Amino acid sequence: MSDNSNTNTVPVQEFEYKAEMKQLLDLIVHSLYTHPEIYLRELISNASDALSKVRFNALTDQDIIDREAELAIRISIDSKELTFVIEDSGVGMTEEELIANLGTVAKSGTLGFMQALKDQQKELDGNLIGQFGVGFYSVFMVTDEVTVETRSARPGSDGYRWRSSGQGTYTIEKIDKAERGTRISFKLKEASKEFAEEYRVEQIVKKYSNFVDFPIYLDQKQLNSITALWQRSKNELKEEEVNEFYKFIANDYQNPLDYLPVSVEGMVTFKALLFLPTEAPPEMLYRQGDLENRGPQLYVKKVLIQQECRDLLPEYLRFIAGVVDTEDLSLNVSREVVQSSPVLAKIRQILTGKILGWFETLAQEQPEKFRTFYKAFGPIIKIGLNTDFTNRDKLIELLRFESTKTEVDEYVTLKAYSERMAPDQKEIYYHSGTSRTQLLAHPNLEYFQNMGIEVLLLSDPVDVFVIPSIHEYDKKPLKSIEKADIDFAKQHKENEKDQPLAANLLKPVLKLFRETLGEGIEDVIESHRLVSAPVTLVSGKDGLDSQMEKMMKMMKSDMPAGKRILEVNTSHPIIRNLAGMIMANEHNPLIRTAMKQLYEGALLLEGGLDSTTAFLSRMNELIEAATLSR
Ligand code: ADP
Repeated sequence: MSDNSNTNTVPVQEFEYKAEMKQLLDLIVHSLYTHPEIYLRELISNASDALSKVRFNALTDQDIIDREAELAIRISIDSKELTFVIEDSGVGMTEEELIANLGTVAKSGTLGFMQALKDQQKELDGNLIGQFGVGFYSVFMVTDEVTVETRSARPGSDGYRWRSSGQGTYTIEKIDKAERGTRISFKLKEASKEFAEEYRVEQIVKKYSNFVDFPIYLDQKQLNSITALWQRSKNELKEEEVNEFYKFIANDYQNPLDYLPVSVEGMVTFKALLFLPTEAPPEMLYRQGDLENRGPQLYVKKVLIQQECRDLLPEYLRFIAGVVDTEDLSLNVSREVVQSSPVLAKIRQILTGKILGWFETLAQEQPEKFRTFYKAFGPIIKIGLNTDFTNRDKLIELLRFESTKTEVDEYVTLKAYSERMAPDQKEIYYHSGTSRTQLLAHPNLEYFQNMGIEVLLLSDPVDVFVIPSIHEYDKKPLKSIEKADIDFAKQHKENEKDQPLAANLLKPVLKLFRETLGEGIEDVIESHRLVSAPVTLVSGKDGLDSQMEKMMKMMKSDMPAGKRILEVNTSHPIIRNLAGMIMANEHNPLIRTAMKQLYEGALLLEGGLDSTTAFLSRMNELIEAATLSR
């Protein structure tokens, strides 16, 4: 920062952009934009936000500057001089706010994300910019220098002029400005002279900003028709308009997947327009917690009270965007009071019910849309099972699973599963792991595949936390196929030809297995489920599902491993051979090596083997023994 003076002896301070900011500006201006017209949408959007803020502040602050001023956005253009001016009577900015808002990148990680998009050579379609809180800088696409004159609505505030050519520095000086609000002016580049044409400005405003809540004037003419879309009934809504509205409020560049107008009168009165995004926002995929501060906009009697009102929806639905407008809250109460109001709780309850009904209707009437929705938001919805007990039954009906009887990317509901169960099947079976391929290869599945019993394949990491808690559906218990206490009464046909070991031969095998594996294992028992695998691991009645245990270990690394039960396939040649070797000489060290190896092999298969060193050296030992006997 350096001080110098201009001719009027008013000090002009020069500031440098942060390094990150310089790169960002460079990216925006030179590589990202394909639609420069977006700059106007961004400037209008900022002006509109500033007006919403001042309208809100005026509710409680009597001393605000120009309390009676019309809340409006004014644009003026000169097609000869190529000048462009946009002015609002909004909150304005103090000097500190100017520096903070127009000199730094608000959201951390923005630059990295934009750079990544550029590296992938993604066409940004001009629309992504608003998501990153850098919309203002898009103005440098159409001009070489911007002047921002602003005066905060706070009593006693001064006016300031900010000026920059987007090249690394900006200046700020104090000025006399009679009215509160912000005036942004610049000379358009020759290549952008279209934006000084009346028809063009009108076209852009109509396209992107028709629903802005304040009048937008071009010289004397009002360009937009102010209509609160959410106040209209469903058949008065035009799809295109609704889509643009969504993009505007949600800062999304894609159309919404679907929308829902809501109108409620009774205990509480409110109108809402809700949107289902097409894709989960990137931050949601990485950190669940980021949904915490999301929510629809809350309006009270058409005045915006809160941009993202988290109290309007339970957390597991906060990916829904939109507007809720109620008459039942007082405009003059503080935000804190609004938030703890029983009216809000009631609205949340009604909205939740409507939204879940909406999903169900989508599932019935537009299954393709529902699939897109479920793929993007299924994992979040499931969290509701453990948090929203009132709506648990509705949420359970929304669940979709892959199963041994569905094709890849096809899904079954619990209802469909339960309806197509064989009459003598008493339980609903599931199998959890990391991927469909891994799940299908697991020996625990053999019996079920053989008997034609459908098994749900759970590969979403959250499944193990929520699905077991369902306990039963339609009076049929849900059960992991890992459990040792499944009734395998029906013998599978292929097995009949292989005679299982007689009890007197089996006993020593199980005994030696127990001795060899010692403390590491809960028990070793005869298996009735295996077909081609020699052994498998299962869990006891109260034991944790292996997948669940793996997830919990990831979160808490010092968690002691739960003990598992080893099931032994007594018709398998390896087991029969071991029985023979024990008869001959039970001290043959090869027997124990083989047993350890079988156990660790089963662990390896389910991803539970921590170190492969011993496993590999034992494998070599066994190969050596096998090659020696030739
Ligand atoms: P975003 O609007 O997404 O936060 P911008 O780069 O467009 O990002 O604007 C940065 C900030 O500058 C805004 O958040 C706002 O605080 C401030 N600002 C921009 N334009 C105006 C305006 N017309 N009136 C008041 N404040 C503004």
